[in-house]
Amino acid sequence: MKALLYFILVVFAGNANAQDSADVMTTKIGNLSIQPIHHASLILTIPSLTIYADPVGIDYFKNEKAPDIILITDIHGDHFDIKTIEALKKESTLLIVPQVVADKLPEADKTNLLVMKNDQQVTKPGISIQAIPMYNLPESPAAMHTKGRGNGYVLGIGEKNIYISGDTQGIPEMRSLKNIDIAFVCMNLPYTMDVKEAANAVLAFKPKIVYPYHYRGKEGFSDTTEFKKRVEAVDKDIEVRLRNWYPEK
Ligand code: ZN
Repeated sequence: MKALLYFILVVFAGNANAQDSADVMTTKIGNLSIQPIHHASLILTIPSLTIYADPVGIDYFKNEKAPDIILITDIHGDHFDIKTIEALKKESTLLIVPQVVADKLPEADKTNLLVMKNDQQVTKPGISIQAIPMYNLPESPAAMHTKGRGNGYVLGIGEKNIYISGDTQGIPEMRSLKNIDIAFVCMNLPYTMDVKEAANAVLAFKPKIVYPYHYRGKEGFSDTTEFKKRVEAVDKDIEVRLRNWYPEK
């Protein structure tokens, strides 16, 4: 019965508007809704809190609740767009960013700002937030993503742990994550990693659910079906959720 209700919920949410389709997970502080938006942009909502990660593209958020928290992972345009942030944020919205992003913000957007370094952890009403390193391998000053610049994030929401990778390869800090319930993992070349490396990393930290996201590369989309196959062939306890992260707009 529970499964049937869930099925109805998901199908109806899906039919209402494909782009706004959300998955729902029960937590100790209410239902958590998980909405893929576009590329690296996503929305997490619990009754008391709406969180945007890397919002880019004002139109994608037109019908969505305004954010209480905006997380930014890095400086690149597919993650950080000042116009989108300014259009979407409320006066009370907390902006959480790495220093390199803070340095690019106009003074007017710094009134409610929290700068986080890799490995730093903070607790905010209803959630905990930890900044996780994200970088290319081998480490190099010439890399597209150098270690220490950007932040992935692990959010603790109602005893569920949600990992947002940002742009990274299968770094040791990802592989050693523990107790992740939901993971958003990037896979696109030449910017991050291929599906094989992403699958290997995911098999190391074993999230309960993983969403491939940020999978459009220079040569088109990465083969997320291949990623799913590689993960599920080795560990059937990991659920790979393929969603459309590139809706028409
Ligand atoms: Zn990116």
